[in-house]
Amino acid sequence: MDSFMYLGVLVVLFLLWIKVKGLDYVIVHQRWIFVCLFLLPLSVVFDVYYYLRAWIIFKMCSAPKLHDQRVKDIQRQISDWRKEGAKTHMCTGRPGWLTVSLRVAKYKKTNKNIMINMMDILDVDIKRQVVRVEPLANMGQVTALLNSIGWTLPVVPELDDLTVGGLVMGTGIESSSHIYGLFQHICVAFELVLADGSLVRCTEEENSDLFHAVPWSCGTLGFLVAAEIKIVPAKQWVKLCYEPVRGLENICQCFTEASQNKGNTFVEGLQYSLDSAVIMTGTMTDHAEPDKINRIGLYFKPWFFKHVEGYLKDDRSGVEYIPLRHYYHRHTRSIFWELQVNRHRHMHTLDLEFDTVMFHNCK
Ligand SMILES: Cc1cc2nc3c(=O)[nH]c(=O)nc-3n(C[C@H](O)[C@H](O)[C@H](O)COP(=O)(O)OP(=O)(O)OC[C@H]3O[C@@H](n4cnc5c(N)ncnc54)[C@H](O)[C@@H]3O)c2cc1C
Repeated sequence: MDSFMYLGVLVVLFLLWIKVKGLDYVIVHQRWIFVCLFLLPLSVVFDVYYYLRAWIIFKMCSAPKLHDQRVKDIQRQISDWRKEGAKTHMCTGRPGWLTVSLRVAKYKKTNKNIMINMMDILDVDIKRQVVRVEPLANMGQVTALLNSIGWTLPVVPELDDLTVGGLVMGTGIESSSHIYGLFQHICVAFELVLADGSLVRCTEEENSDLFHAVPWSCGTLGFLVAAEIKIVPAKQWVKLCYEPVRGLENICQCFTEASQNKGNTFVEGLQYSLDSAVIMTGTMTDHAEPDKINRIGLYFKPWFFKHVEGYLKDDRSGVEYIPLRHYYHRHTRSIFWELQVNRHRHMHTLDLEFDTVMFHNCK
């Protein structure tokens, strides 16, 4: 009973404090309260739901059947739009808060929103080494499924929430892009519903003009309803070498050499000031030295860019073995350095450009 009373008193004091300070002040200056009490629990529930849903649908093999229905539903919405006189432009109905971009897409309020509820992995074709996915399948979902059966995408943009549709229609790049190119370069086919309601498949050979025009078109050519993407065999670990480098020219040279060496499956550079950086090179392996294993994705581990900064501060190189999925999604928890930078944005705006700049190298 006592503990309930203490809790009640604490809640009352907390509410009084919010009343005195103002809700705006608390949300802006004490962001951790909102993050810990609401955002984190909600994110966990959302992630678990999303993961379980994808897993169950895939295991029951019901996704391909539902896919055709979902395409028909998009065609119906477009047909309705035409019947209504096609008065406004169309756009995807995905709300802005679900996308990774911080942009507020005002056009969504006035345009005809076409709802594209397509978030499934449709098929893994080991023979052709291709996975067929719907546009809202995200990177976390794709690696969870593919890695568990020994396969992976050659290019996995880091953040879990990046979707196949966004990466094809927007852009996607990763630390393996010096070998495989951009995300669009590992795609072998796109399926789109066009503004006349027709469903079109395009590949290098079939409708090849459309195939080459789709990447970076930001949805202007049609609605993506599926993509076929190359897959490659996955290994359990990434052996990652950290190398602190000082001096802008040295940084550029080291990064260029690392990227030109095709023995490096992954190359990434994190720059902490104009003339200090850590260059990382990695390869996949099935064997790890036990004393060098670092599961960087565990919730209590330091944010990845902070961990890397340690090598710069101590001025030492190092080697670690990181579980493959932990490596892929290494920047997810901190959204690179966004969480920290946002917290200090009002004080450190100028620092932003020099503090932490990441670069990848693309073929
Ligand atoms: C904080 C941050 C971190 C980032 N990190 C990375 C990174 O690590 N690696 C990387 O490669 N990129 C990164 N990006 C860039 C990111 O990949 C692009 O912004 C990408 O387009 C966002 O994908 P999304 O899934 O949020 O798509 P959205 O923002 O929803 O969509 C992007 C565009 O594609 C269009 N589109 C989406 N789906 C469809 C569809 N089915 N049919 C037609 N059009 C469609 C949308 O209309 C929009 O124009 C980052 C961006 C931010 C803001």
